[in-house]
Amino acid sequence: MSAPATSQALTSLKGVGPALQKKLNQLGLFNTRDLLFHLPLRYEDRTRLHAIGKVSLGEMVQIEGEVLGSSIQFGRRRSLLCMVQDTSGVISLRFFHFSAAQKKALDAAKRIRCFGEVRRGRSGFELYHPEYQILQADEIQATDQTLTPVYPTTEGLQQGRLRKLINQSLAMLQSRPPRDLLPKSLLEPLNLPSLTEAIQVVHQPPADAPASWLGHGDNPGQKRLAFEELLAHRLCMRRYRLESDNKTAPVLRADSDLEQGLLQQLGFELTTAQQRAFAEISANLASGHPMLRLLQGDVGSGKTVVAALAALQAIASGFQVAIMAPTEILAEQHLLNFQQWLSPLGIQVGWLSGKSKGKQRSQTLEALAGGDCQLIVGTHALFQDEVHYQQLGLVIIDEQHRFGVHQRLALRDKAGLGALNPHQLVMTATPIPRTLAMSAYADLDSSVLDELPPGRTPVNTALISAERRDEVVARIDGACRGGDQAYWVCTLIEESEALQAQAAEATAQTLAEQLPGLAIALIHGRMKPKEKAEVMARFKAGEIKLLVATTVIEVGVDVPNASLMVIENPERLGLAQLHQLRGRVGRGKKASHCILLYATPLSNTGKARLKVMRESTDGFYIAEQDLAIRGPGQVLGTQQTGLMTFRIADISRDAAMLDDVKQASETIMRDYPELVDPLIQRWLGDRVNYMNV
Ligand code: ADP
Ligand code: MG
Repeated sequence: MSAPATSQALTSLKGVGPALQKKLNQLGLFNTRDLLFHLPLRYEDRTRLHAIGKVSLGEMVQIEGEVLGSSIQFGRRRSLLCMVQDTSGVISLRFFHFSAAQKKALDAAKRIRCFGEVRRGRSGFELYHPEYQILQADEIQATDQTLTPVYPTTEGLQQGRLRKLINQSLAMLQSRPPRDLLPKSLLEPLNLPSLTEAIQVVHQPPADAPASWLGHGDNPGQKRLAFEELLAHRLCMRRYRLESDNKTAPVLRADSDLEQGLLQQLGFELTTAQQRAFAEISANLASGHPMLRLLQGDVGSGKTVVAALAALQAIASGFQVAIMAPTEILAEQHLLNFQQWLSPLGIQVGWLSGKSKGKQRSQTLEALAGGDCQLIVGTHALFQDEVHYQQLGLVIIDEQHRFGVHQRLALRDKAGLGALNPHQLVMTATPIPRTLAMSAYADLDSSVLDELPPGRTPVNTALISAERRDEVVARIDGACRGGDQAYWVCTLIEESEALQAQAAEATAQTLAEQLPGLAIALIHGRMKPKEKAEVMARFKAGEIKLLVATTVIEVGVDVPNASLMVIENPERLGLAQLHQLRGRVGRGKKASHCILLYATPLSNTGKARLKVMRESTDGFYIAEQDLAIRGPGQVLGTQQTGLMTFRIADISRDAAMLDDVKQASETIMRDYPELVDPLIQRWLGDRVNYMNV
């Protein structure tokens, strides 16, 4: 954070030399201003003294009394015990680590004040390693006037030391207040304090502050700072978006003959949601400005057709389209779909993955550079250095992988459009909770497929402990003999495909022994694409009744007759992933079932999460719950967390503020445009340079 006018070097503070400066730097603190924005984790109440006779177990207490004496105890561990008495009772302080000097000082002490947690020890209630201060016999020491902050710190930097430094910076706060970037007219209706007040109250809450402040969260100072930080992030995204709106992109016009050609092949009508989403996309593509749109839709909601229609619009105008998927198997599924739909219309569909080699690869690269290949499907390989497009008009990215901003730049260079920018459509089946969408995706427009194609029946989900595995196996047997088909999904924490494949192989073998005569097959990520396709084709044809799979089946496959799914160790997966997996059943007319076969013991969080799966089949609800239970970093995955690291704000905790943040960002951009830069600079600092190309 930088605001050079009132910020000073750390070494200007009393007692800060190079060693201490280094420790502070490790915490991300580089000047006195940073210290002000270093927020407490929680508070301790040292504003009053507790009567020793009235303390209770587990309580954080401040006591003061006469030192009765101290002695070394030899038990399992040597310790120093010091007895303290006030008019209400006696309590012991216990130190497992102590120096000779410390012992000597305590021996000589007459009165002492301590702060610590009440524990049950050998001598009754005890304070282990309390913070303490030896007092003169008649010394009167005032209690603190404010709650005591406890800061995040690092090894070798003591809490008390850090607290003193922050207090020094706070002392300068009134005489050299940092610039308040938020206008009063904006803060007052929201009941948020000024910046100076916020900093003051967050570091030194008044003695009568509600107890709820002690934990975290409720402090209005913290709220104000979190609000400002969220606002800065949103402004940054919006600014990027506005700049993008001012850029130009090829004007892509729909061709109704091609469109009809596709729609007639489908054998179904588009849902209203699909029609609406495509209309939104279509308008963007024809606007002459680059589209930046997110297409969200639950598993099975039919995003692919919408993407195909968008692709046709680009191709009809003479531009190329690239469709990128995060995994080979998902990309293959798209390839099949697009070939099936677009080849009959005379469109050349190509394929490029990391595994494409030799002649196939060089031919594809040539076809892309020359413009013969109109639509290319693949993985990240689509944007490697050697790949050049003749005229890439539209990039469709499946599964919420987002291009970082520097990648976007590369994209434009690659596209071969000169000063024009390609359009971008990002598709995700992991519904993004509204809260995250508002911050992490504030620069994208959004279309939502909130309606499933007709004829689907919701999946019934049961939680069953692994101890009842045999019952589940028997149930599968019965169902398969009755004409159903089933998936058995093996999960493994390890990322290694080899280990996953091994585990699935072992499971398939056990099941085959338990269920002789049942047609069982195995599919995993280590198999060749051709082998996988073969297995899937046989499963689809009904020859295979039980398909044992790793999580590779998460994406792509569509077998309407499969109505039963067992997921082993579901507690290892994110809810979004479970939701995706479960979406593989319930695609036909039959009632479908999903059994979550969890390992015991299951943690409380684990239980809570799996219950969400049982209660809901709504991807958005599930994602919101997952976010609430696990926090945004986990839900979004590592790719996005770079954009989402906040110093103070917490998307889950502060979700209720986001509507206000959104409004405030509009107000600032309209009425106070001069504040946009300083706000972004204060909170995002150097990070902005790469976000804002
Ligand atoms: P997702 O959104 O998960 O990518 P898909 O695009 O794979 O979903 O569609 C799932 C299945 O639903 C596919 O078999 C697709 O052909 C079918 N489908 C898509 N739209 C419709 C519709 N409007 N009516 C009936 N079936 C549809
Ligand atoms: Mg899909």
